[in-house]
Amino acid sequence: MATPVVPPKKKRIGVMTSGGDSQGMNGVVRSVVRTTIHMGCEAYAIYEGYDGLVQAGDLIKEMHWDDVRGYLSRGGTLIGTKRCMEFYERPGRLTAAKNMVEKGIDALIICGGDGSLTGADMFRAEWPGLLEELVSKGQLTRAQVEPYQHLNICGLVGSIDNDMSGTDATIGCYSSLERICEMVDAVFDTAASHKRGFVIEVMGRHCGWLALMASIATGADYVFIPEKPPSEGWEEEMCEIVTSHRKLGKRRTIIIISEGAQDTDLNKITADQVVKVLSDQLKLDTRKTVLGHTQRGGLPSFYDRWLSTLQGVEAVNAILDATPDTPSPVITIRENKIERSNLQECVALTKSVAEAIKQKDFNKAMQLRDVEFKEYFDSYKLTTSTDRVKMRLPEEKRLRIAIIHVGAPAGGMNPATRAAVAYCLSRGHTPIAIHNGFPGLQRHHDDKPIGSVRTIEWIDVDPWVNEGGSELGTNRGLPSEDLPQTAHCFKLYKFDALFLIGGFEAFTAASEIRKGRDKYPAFRIPLLVLPATVSNNVPGTEYSLGSDTCLNTLIGFCDAIRQSASASRRRVFVIETQGGKSGYLATMAGLSIGALAVYIPEEGINIHMLSRDIEFLRENFKYDKGASRAGKIILRNETASDVYTTQVVADMIKEEARGRFESRAAVPGHYQQGGKPSPMDRIRAQRMAIKCMQFLEETFAGKSKDEVAANKLSAAVIGVQGSEVVFSAMGGEDGLEAMETDWKLRRPLNEFWRPLKATVDILSGRPKDSDCC
Ligand code: ATP
Repeated sequence: MATPVVPPKKKRIGVMTSGGDSQGMNGVVRSVVRTTIHMGCEAYAIYEGYDGLVQAGDLIKEMHWDDVRGYLSRGGTLIGTKRCMEFYERPGRLTAAKNMVEKGIDALIICGGDGSLTGADMFRAEWPGLLEELVSKGQLTRAQVEPYQHLNICGLVGSIDNDMSGTDATIGCYSSLERICEMVDAVFDTAASHKRGFVIEVMGRHCGWLALMASIATGADYVFIPEKPPSEGWEEEMCEIVTSHRKLGKRRTIIIISEGAQDTDLNKITADQVVKVLSDQLKLDTRKTVLGHTQRGGLPSFYDRWLSTLQGVEAVNAILDATPDTPSPVITIRENKIERSNLQECVALTKSVAEAIKQKDFNKAMQLRDVEFKEYFDSYKLTTSTDRVKMRLPEEKRLRIAIIHVGAPAGGMNPATRAAVAYCLSRGHTPIAIHNGFPGLQRHHDDKPIGSVRTIEWIDVDPWVNEGGSELGTNRGLPSEDLPQTAHCFKLYKFDALFLIGGFEAFTAASEIRKGRDKYPAFRIPLLVLPATVSNNVPGTEYSLGSDTCLNTLIGFCDAIRQSASASRRRVFVIETQGGKSGYLATMAGLSIGALAVYIPEEGINIHMLSRDIEFLRENFKYDKGASRAGKIILRNETASDVYTTQVVADMIKEEARGRFESRAAVPGHYQQGGKPSPMDRIRAQRMAIKCMQFLEETFAGKSKDEVAANKLSAAVIGVQGSEVVFSAMGGEDGLEAMETDWKLRRPLNEFWRPLKATVDILSGRPKDSDCC
């Protein structure tokens, strides 16, 4: 008789959340559990952080596919977190090791702050010694420990503070920033009504990211952060800035202070102290608002759902790729690229920032933080500084920079314009606003200047910091509608550069002008496109202003609609998303709400797909139970199919469900463009717009028209590409227009996000397309 084949033990991957909770931790758990199962392994949740590892028992539980339903949209952490004193000591870690072996757990994925990750790394380093000790003490046998010789761990940074070096963002920081901005925006109105001052304290004991980004996103007058304390005499400087802003006509004063704010001697600066300075020295009616724990709460934003999901997938892959010699990784993000970094190095770098602050070496602290942080700090200073005169360029280097919005409105257009104007004014350039796009420019009669082209002042744009839509006015009109008149106006207003903020139309407009240079010398000026469109379909970038705002709005819509079905049960919603011929919005929204299926124009819709998805729905509803029984969502891009419209898909599902469930169509339409821009769109608008102005100045100031036209980058797009922000030339053989643009379908030829579509399907458990068509 043949000996029975014993299947090899499946790898068991444990996931835990540790340290302070942050929005997005649940997304990590869902993604780790489902990816682990998808990869043929077993997933275990360690409840209550390291305490669960030390106490074991029911705190270590196997997780099944359906256990994490609904996790993506929940705030906090559903598997709990706790500070665990025992784990700081070796005996605590010894017990944890014993429990892990007994539960058969091979690898750990920890989502937490630098403390949690330090603990994890120490645990891994001690692991062989811990096993030896357990055997020598007779607590485990050699045979028991034999299969567990190497512990693989992987870190994910979950923290609202964004205090980990080596990553641009931590899971939770953008949701928290969103909470803060909502509240600061709300204070705006009352502050302006009473001409009051407000000092708003935000979290961040050792890290000023939240305070700085909130200040940029809300146009605060002054900020206090721990890593860059104000210089001696800050009281006078702050009062001077506030007074100068008031003189310009500002009716409100907002000061944002980190809870860890300090002066250069490391003495704490409190919100009360700041209130007193403003009240005593300026006689300003000033109030204090401490935002406290509200900053941790609320639903995770789009970005945190996206980040937690993709980083969770990457963490499982890193664990499965690991060898005994692989250094422990931590999953990080640079711009748009998710990477594996060295956990020890990132933790050490983070600690060195704290050390530099302790040593009062604040310049070093700023350098050790990410480059991006310093850039943000400098750009913030530029928009609040009273001392603009010092930064002026010599007369011959100054440019007349025209700013135009093109295409549909998108969140971030106004903040980008505000930042560009601030930069221009600081350097002595002349910012010129073109109202109502190219038709506004072309509407000009004779040689009399018209109202739609005018130089713009700081006080015009300062309130635009958190305004949605386009204050300049935007439309789809193109230069080609009247090219001679467009050229005439360029000449008349003496434009030295054109800064276009918009989507595919802005790209098209710049291309038309570039191509008209031979005929119209007035077009031989630099043309720079800052992509701003909810569809995120501009060649040369993986991110467009406004797409984050749109996705936040869209997932809020999906959450609410899904919730509406939790009483009636068994309902599927077919929701139509915008995006033109690009499936970006539908796919990203699908990833961050856990859509059952996503229909995009790139793939189309066919009968096999529908019938397979209806079957999949039947299966899903069959196993649905309890609280997880909210509605299911299918997302359909508006142009995914001419025949299978949103209503037709919903009707077909209803018909084929044969009474087992029902379906409804929902079209959020222009609601998706959102209200106020998201904080991410606001801060990126500022950073990108300033980069654009610097680029124009450094590359083209003082250059002749022919020199400009000869430079390939004189018609360019600024964009995020992988881990970098780059300027890409539009023209030329290898330029964006020739190599990366699908002009007919109005989208990039290679859409960076396409591989993520498979991830949406994997995480929803949807059968593969190849299974049906
Ligand atoms: P937050 O950013 O919210 O503070 P954190 O992960 O830094 O998150 P900590 O309280 O520092 O939060 O750490 C969480 C848990 O990690 C601790 O309660 C402890 O169990 C474990 N831990 C932290 N530092 C160490 C360490 N040096 N050695 C062993 N375990 C540690």
